[in-house]
Amino acid sequence: LLSGLEAIKPDSLLQLIQMASADTRPNKIDVGVGVYRTSNGATPILSAVKKAEKILWERQETKAYLGMSGDKVYAELLKPIVFGQHADDEGLIGLQTPGGCGALTLGFKLVKAARPDARVLVGTPTWANHQPVIEGAGLKIVEYPYYLKEETRIDFDAMIAAFDAARPGDVALLHGCCHNPTGADLDAGQWAKVRAKCAEKGIIPFVDIAYQGLGDGLDDDAEGLRGLMGACDEVIVAQSCDKNFGVYRDRVGCLFVKAGSDETANIVKSHIMQIAREMWSMPPDHSAAAVRIVLENDDLRAEWLDELSIMRGRIKDLRKRIASKDPRLAYIGEQKGMFSMMPLTPQQVDTLRDEHAIYMADSGRFNVCGMADEDVDRFCDAVLEAMDG
Ligand code: PMP
Repeated sequence: LLSGLEAIKPDSLLQLIQMASADTRPNKIDVGVGVYRTSNGATPILSAVKKAEKILWERQETKAYLGMSGDKVYAELLKPIVFGQHADDEGLIGLQTPGGCGALTLGFKLVKAARPDARVLVGTPTWANHQPVIEGAGLKIVEYPYYLKEETRIDFDAMIAAFDAARPGDVALLHGCCHNPTGADLDAGQWAKVRAKCAEKGIIPFVDIAYQGLGDGLDDDAEGLRGLMGACDEVIVAQSCDKNFGVYRDRVGCLFVKAGSDETANIVKSHIMQIAREMWSMPPDHSAAAVRIVLENDDLRAEWLDELSIMRGRIKDLRKRIASKDPRLAYIGEQKGMFSMMPLTPQQVDTLRDEHAIYMADSGRFNVCGMADEDVDRFCDAVLEAMDG
């Protein structure tokens, strides 16, 4: 059975993580991996989460199964954060998932169950795991160029042309905010055009929102998504708390589906519960329970919001510093979230690694908050030297 298998090449980002950790040069700068780091290069547990975990430890009396729906209160508490004025829209349901990845997988399997020949419009470049998840669900991808790396801007005309060419019932994957890997988010006018196109063409928006609060703020970062909720009868949302609560390894996410009516929502719920049952049966509880405690407790919620704003502030400050170094880097100051892309060739990226111990993805994607404060100048100087070289 197994001898017929051919090895799959590991994801290049995972290879990069391994290479970076094996590098013993003391001046190493690892901006490959996608976790928030403080000015000292640490990824600490948020204090609000730590306190909630303590409460959980004191309060929790059993580890018995939670049930197939996961923690329903957790999903309800997230609704106003994600959907704002649309939190009570008819037919909006949420199901706790293992991280954003779990939500994406569950959501695309739902699409497959509902319309097996649906195609998924995906802008390129996109996060490396989107394609495997979508194709793994048995769906066909239609790619269009989203971002022009050399010109450091969104190719909005190409995006709209792709939406114009879509068939009714196709699904469009959209990054809610803090686009990974480019940092280039749609502006308000572009969101308005995208939602008008979705409504006009009968395209179902599928929003991946994994970095809410790390761009301009919880509400600002969800504006595009909330606009879609107003314009479209059906919207699918894969949400993650892994970044904005800093609980990456604990796998905390939620799939939301706006199904148009409560009746359809009940049917959808039966499907997603069945699909989830086949995959993980029930989501892991620990950090979702901690997130719930944070959101239910006014003091902890306020503390979390402060910590989130500190993370966001650091990302913005780093962006400003990098942007001010050279006009060629100015665009980084306009972009959002943890990632941006340097207009570098894979060879230039190799040179940075070999000569300067700087680790970034082959595409030129780097984690803006992956470097310590003291490394910013050296990082920028090395990148500019590589661009000139
Ligand atoms: N979507 C995007 C765009 C991401 O960057 C990530 C994580 N890197 C995810 C979803 C999945 O997040 P999680 O770790 O919660 O599965």
